[in-house]
Amino acid sequence: MKIKFMGAAGTVTGSSYVLTSGSGQSILIDLGMFQGVAEIESLNYRKFEYDASTLSAVILTHAHLDHCGRLPILLSHGFTGPVYMTSATADLTELSLLDTAKVAEEDEKPFLFNKEQVIQMTKQFKRVHYHAPETIGDFIVTMYDAGHILGSASVVIEDTRANSSIRKIVFSGDVGNSPDNLLPDVEPVESADAVVMESTYGDRLHPADDPMDILASEIKAVEGNGGTLLIPAFSLQRTQELMHMIMHLKKDGKVREDTPVYMDSPMGNAATTIYTRYPEAFKAYVQEEFREGSPFEFPGVTMIQKKKGQRLIDATLGAKVIIAGSGMMTGGRIVGHAARYLPIPSTRLLIVGYQGVETLGRELLEGSKTVKIDKRTVNVKAIVSDTQSMSSHADQQQLMTWLKEIKNVQKVFLTHGEDGPRKALAAKITQDLGVSDITMPVLHQEVSL
Ligand SMILES: [Zn+2]
Repeated sequence: MKIKFMGAAGTVTGSSYVLTSGSGQSILIDLGMFQGVAEIESLNYRKFEYDASTLSAVILTHAHLDHCGRLPILLSHGFTGPVYMTSATADLTELSLLDTAKVAEEDEKPFLFNKEQVIQMTKQFKRVHYHAPETIGDFIVTMYDAGHILGSASVVIEDTRANSSIRKIVFSGDVGNSPDNLLPDVEPVESADAVVMESTYGDRLHPADDPMDILASEIKAVEGNGGTLLIPAFSLQRTQELMHMIMHLKKDGKVREDTPVYMDSPMGNAATTIYTRYPEAFKAYVQEEFREGSPFEFPGVTMIQKKKGQRLIDATLGAKVIIAGSGMMTGGRIVGHAARYLPIPSTRLLIVGYQGVETLGRELLEGSKTVKIDKRTVNVKAIVSDTQSMSSHADQQQLMTWLKEIKNVQKVFLTHGEDGPRKALAAKITQDLGVSDITMPVLHQEVSL
């Protein structure tokens, strides 16, 4: 077997790997978008350095754009094969790719693909179940629940034509931060000879605070002063987690039932609708909640679709909560709300996810008192706080727990992380598990297994 690292090698984003069997058949695992500063994003527009017409299939681990966001470019490179993923991943990937094409069209930016290409690509989607081995040429592919977002998977691939002791390789995908309020715990993988694993938080441990307590105290603060709580949120998973938590806080009387909550994100609303199609994919107690209706709905919530919904939100006097994308405040409706509400001292901004460098979210998190929004200077009088405890990624300890469960590991490749976290995780793996064959690949590196 051979593996070529087509992305997420030295960066967090752009996940993509080509695996070639002992007899020369190739499959691609993920084709994510490079996201972040301009230099990294420019990699999206570079030529795809592999002959895609020779790929016999693609496998997607999950629907986040940094894992699926370049998929449609394969069409213009002559790829005609199937794309395997779980059913929830198929629905969420279609939504994310269509949204990406739409945003690119509206912004009149150079785009990687258009809506028609997304629709064409979805015709090649093949939906598979967890634990159901799929034979793809020389390979046998099995998915396990990665507990990261709905439908997310770790993928075990066995090369039936391998000509070395490395026959079975596992791609972690993104490993979830279990226990999670919504999703079942990360599933252990029994055995693999080689492991390609993410290392996003390879150098740190998540704080032990309960996100429910933090959210309750933020909502109570605006209930007390009649202000606005702004929460920028990623449309997949984070938005649904927030809605589910607020449902519980209202039900348990921890915040007021009549406090208005606006979900001002068409993409978040569409993703939530997809989430409600898969009740069996959630934790047992959430499955119970589904019997009574959607666990993402509660008194006082309004889902806003149209842009003019901002007028309705602004006309609401007194305490209110606004959840909107994008998660790092680089676009989407949260930007308009930020311009309107950040200059008001009774406003609170709660950051619940990772904020990349050079994003508005990062600037606010670092305490900027004036920011530029749509070329206007905005004075920040709002109180800004953040919590890392809602991360959907495993921390160092959880990554180690995932790896320890796998028997027979001879080789480890650390991807999907900056160099600091990768090095820290490599040292920990050698120290705790005695595995010393650890590679930190660079972009386009090829390794024989
Ligand atoms: Zn992810």
